[in-house]
Formats: sequence, structure tokens, C-alpha cells
Amino acid sequence: AQGKNRAQFFSEEINRKIRNDLQIEAGLRQAIKDPGSGLYVAYQPQVCATTREIVGVEALIRWRQDDGKSVSPGEFIPVAEKTGLIIEIGAWLVGRICRDLAHMRQSGIELPKIAINVSPKEMTRGTAIVGNACLTLTGFGESVERFQFEITENALIDENASDVLKAFHDAGFTLAIDDFGTGYSSLGYLKRFRVSTLKIDQQFVQSLPGDNEDATIVSAVIQMAQALGITVVAEGVETEAQAAFLTEHGCDILQGYHVGRPMPVHELVTFIHGQHTT
Ligand code: C2E
Ligand code: CA
Ligand code: CA
Ligand code: CA
Repeated sequence: AQGKNRAQFFSEEINRKIRNDLQIEAGLRQAIKDPGSGLYVAYQPQVCATTREIVGVEALIRWRQDDGKSVSPGEFIPVAEKTGLIIEIGAWLVGRICRDLAHMRQSGIELPKIAINVSPKEMTRGTAIVGNACLTLTGFGESVERFQFEITENALIDENASDVLKAFHDAGFTLAIDDFGTGYSSLGYLKRFRVSTLKIDQQFVQSLPGDNEDATIVSAVIQMAQALGITVVAEGVETEAQAAFLTEHGCDILQGYHVGRPMPVHELVTFIHGQHTT
């Protein structure tokens, strides 16, 4: 009898999960179609480690549902990946970013770099993503050079990865390896794919400067990147002590709550204007 109850419990759990995923999927489909809907992009500043001047932003997708509740990308991106909707979201994202850049331009702001996340699922569709991004950007009169695409190490295992990365590079985009040190792949790709930037995952940054192992890993990664001519971004920088350690060890760029939270475009404008007047 207990076995039966258990089976019942699990199937209810699974049903609940499926219902939730279906709701997310339907909501997302609607949100992509409706321009005034709750999908928007938050921009997190990346600052030069030594001068603390803003050198770029990472675009992070946000979704506020009709009832005012926010769903985190950690919850809806996996659903979008499973259903293939991530392709449409990726296309929507580039257009949204172009509109936001036009808004910033009106306020006298030209960001040197905009980093965009690419999901591993998008890589499996081949080089279409590169062509589509180029079309949208040229349509809005944006030049490709200041756009950087962030790819996780695990996405490099895909059989299409090499073609896609070459296409990004040939089109003039730069590439960053996201969550560096957490995936499964060899370091050979750093050279092969002409990676311009490594992003040290926040798990290695979290316990700096006290944790000896993390301190050793981080400083070794920075040294290796420097020797290869690769720019290093540290993610998840939350304290001045972390920022100071990273700067001292030669990290180029800092990103994290300590230097700026992800924010909607109008807040970013205020943030940047504030930075230049103080
Ligand atoms: P990620 O690319 O590694 O993004 C960094 C995450 O760390 C973001 O979470 C950001 O808000 C958070 N973060 C930034 N600074 C700090 C800090 O100082 N401390 C802590 N604890 N966290 C910090 P978010 O925005 O919830 O995004 C989660 C993940 O969802 C991203 O991880 C990325 O993999 C994915 N994602 C977000 N936006 C997009 C998108 O537009 N497209 C795709 N394909 N994936 C996205
Ligand atoms: Ca990222
Ligand atoms: Ca990351
Ligand atoms: Ca991450």
C-alpha cells in the first residue's frame, strides 16, 4: 500500500511540474508576441578593475508576469530551452537590446560593450543565430564589434560549436567563456576558438580572499589568461575585499552587486550619469 501511495505522490509531483512548465511556456509565448508585456532586459555594469569606470554591461533577461510576480531566468530559461522557445527569445532579446541602446544614445550614452548570453540549445541550431543577430543589428544601424556573446564551456561540446563560434568570430563579434571553471571541456578551445574573454564563475569569487584554494585557482586563471592575451572578468563580486584581491592579482574587469546590480535601461542611464558627475 505504501508503494502505491508513493507512486501517487511522485505522479502528483510530476503533474504539478508539468502544469507549471506549461503555464510558463504559454506565458512566455504571449509575452514575446506582446511588445508591452513583462519581458525586458536588465543590464549589469562591468567596470575596469583599476579605474572602476564602466566598460560594458551584461544583458540579463527579466520577466514580470501580469500578476506582478517576477519569474527568474533560472526558472524559465530551462523551460524555454526544452520547448525550443529559446530561439524566439534569443531573437527577441537582440531587438530589445537595440531599442534600449537607441534610448541610451538619446541620453548621450554609448556603451563600449554589450554581452549577451547564448544558451547551449541555441548552439545546436547551427550558425543561424549569428546571421539573425547580424541582420537585427544592421537593421538598427548597430555595429557588431561591441557585441560579445557569452557561451558556457558545456555548450562547446556540441558538434556545431566549432562552426558557430567561427561564424561569430568571422562576423566580428567577440566571445566570452561564461562560468569559467565549472564545465567539462578542455582548455584547447581557448586558442582554437580565439576566445577574447574569460568570466571566472562566482563560486570561485565568493570566498575570496580568505579561502586559500579559491585564491590560488583565481590567481592562476588570471595569470594563464594574461599570458594568452585573454581579458578576465570576475563575476559575483559582492565585497570590496573581493574586488581588492582581484584587482591586485591582475583581473581586468569586475562584475557583481558590489559594483552594480542588474537594472532596467532607465536606471542604467541614471547610474552612468551619476558615475560621471561624482
Ligand atoms: P549568468 O550568465 O551566469 O548570469 C549571472 C547571474 O548572477 C545573474 O543571474 C546575475 O543577476 C547574478 N549576479 C550578478 N551579480 C551577482 C552577485 O554579486 N552575487 C550573486 N549572488 N549573483 C549575482 P540571473 O539574472 O538570475 O540569471 C541566471 C542565469 O540565467 C544566467 O547566469 C544565464 O545563464 C541565464 N540567463 C539570464 N539571462 C539570459 C538571457 O538573456 N539568455 C539566456 N540564454 N540565458 C540567460
Ligand atoms: Ca552570463
Ligand atoms: Ca556566469
Ligand atoms: Ca551562471
